[in-house]
Amino acid sequence: MPYKPDRYDPYAGSKRPVNNRSVNNQPSGRPSRNAQSNRARMNRIAAERRRRARRRQTARRLLAFAVMVVVFVTLSLFLWSRRDDIGSSLAAVTGLFSGEKENKPTDKKPTEEAPAETSDSEDPVETTASHFGQNGHDFILQSDIPLFMDQERAIVLIDAGHGGIDGGAPGYLGDGTQVKEANIVLDIAFKLKAELEARDIETYMIREDDTFFSLYARVARASLLSLDYMSALQPELVNDRDYVSQMTEKLMIPININSDDRSTGAFGFMKGYGMSKEQMELIDLQQNCSNVIFVSLHCNAHDYDTTLHGLQAYYCHDDVVEIDEADGLAAQTDPVGNAVYHGRDNERNQLLAQYVYDGTVGKAPFLSGTNAGKPVLAGNYAVLREHGLAGTLLELGYMSNSSDLQQLRDPDTQQKIAAGIGLGIEKYFLKLFNP
Ligand SMILES: [Zn+2]
Repeated sequence: MPYKPDRYDPYAGSKRPVNNRSVNNQPSGRPSRNAQSNRARMNRIAAERRRRARRRQTARRLLAFAVMVVVFVTLSLFLWSRRDDIGSSLAAVTGLFSGEKENKPTDKKPTEEAPAETSDSEDPVETTASHFGQNGHDFILQSDIPLFMDQERAIVLIDAGHGGIDGGAPGYLGDGTQVKEANIVLDIAFKLKAELEARDIETYMIREDDTFFSLYARVARASLLSLDYMSALQPELVNDRDYVSQMTEKLMIPININSDDRSTGAFGFMKGYGMSKEQMELIDLQQNCSNVIFVSLHCNAHDYDTTLHGLQAYYCHDDVVEIDEADGLAAQTDPVGNAVYHGRDNERNQLLAQYVYDGTVGKAPFLSGTNAGKPVLAGNYAVLREHGLAGTLLELGYMSNSSDLQQLRDPDTQQKIAAGIGLGIEKYFLKLFNP
């Protein structure tokens, strides 16, 4: 049997022929030839022991290193799989500590009050996780919508119509200069914001400058805000993170696509006639947000009848939507038909419109006595129909009427209009909370 070095044999590797194991077991079986050779042997044994010790140490180190590698790889894979959650948490925490709780909507585009037909979709709106759940709730909305911290205050979402590529109805001054509806309603929107805040009513501007927001992006923003708010109010909703994150994701689609062109898919779950089940559920939830209302500001225009003038306040009513949608559905060649929603608080909507109308014409009498039909009336507008918040859409006079136009452009009159709307809203909330 050929000699094979044995790593457990202290003699392994030595030149000494060890074909007999008994040598190891009885090293002192016979006397060494002299002390020198004994010392040399002991030195070899000691050296061999040191080598064995070093080998064992190396093996232990290799094993420890291998364990660390496995742990590191496993941890890395886990973190990578959760990177989205972690990233948004970090962003939220960063935002929290930097005091950033309100990001303004900036880059969007405009739209019409009626379901729109065309408009190119622009750059998607950047989404950032800027919200941290109030009251310690740590769900995160992937939006730049501010979080309403105070659950008791009245909140008004101010929707200045049009903007950006969508100037709205044009008006013409005596010298032919064109005036844009979008600019007039934005001026009034800022004045309304100040009026409401002076009354300790919280506000949120759907747009704050001359940028475009599609109708469905506006609605989605309102819904995101109410989702945020409801999550704080309703513990069962806060706990249902799947629902909150699912709905947030769906609502970000119209916000990001920001187009009222039906072919873009920007309507998301608001697509088609009637309402999908999930939208109905969301609207049902929104009915509970009685202290959040949606106020849309517009000016009217007529193509040829320049005598039409005055204020009209619209509100959403189930019956009007149903009739309208049935007509629309019948006219479609490839309709997406859902059941029609019945569950709006029609009376509440009407009450809001009436109070706002009364307040406005009280402060700006030139807007009273509209000759365009009923001053307070139900209408099927997307910005009132597609969410469950109480809302009103105001047509603040006619751009096509020279007298209305002159007044609407006047900053003092704009201030009066804003004061009147603010007064009407205040009265509405007082009535609502102190019936
Ligand atoms: Zn308009």
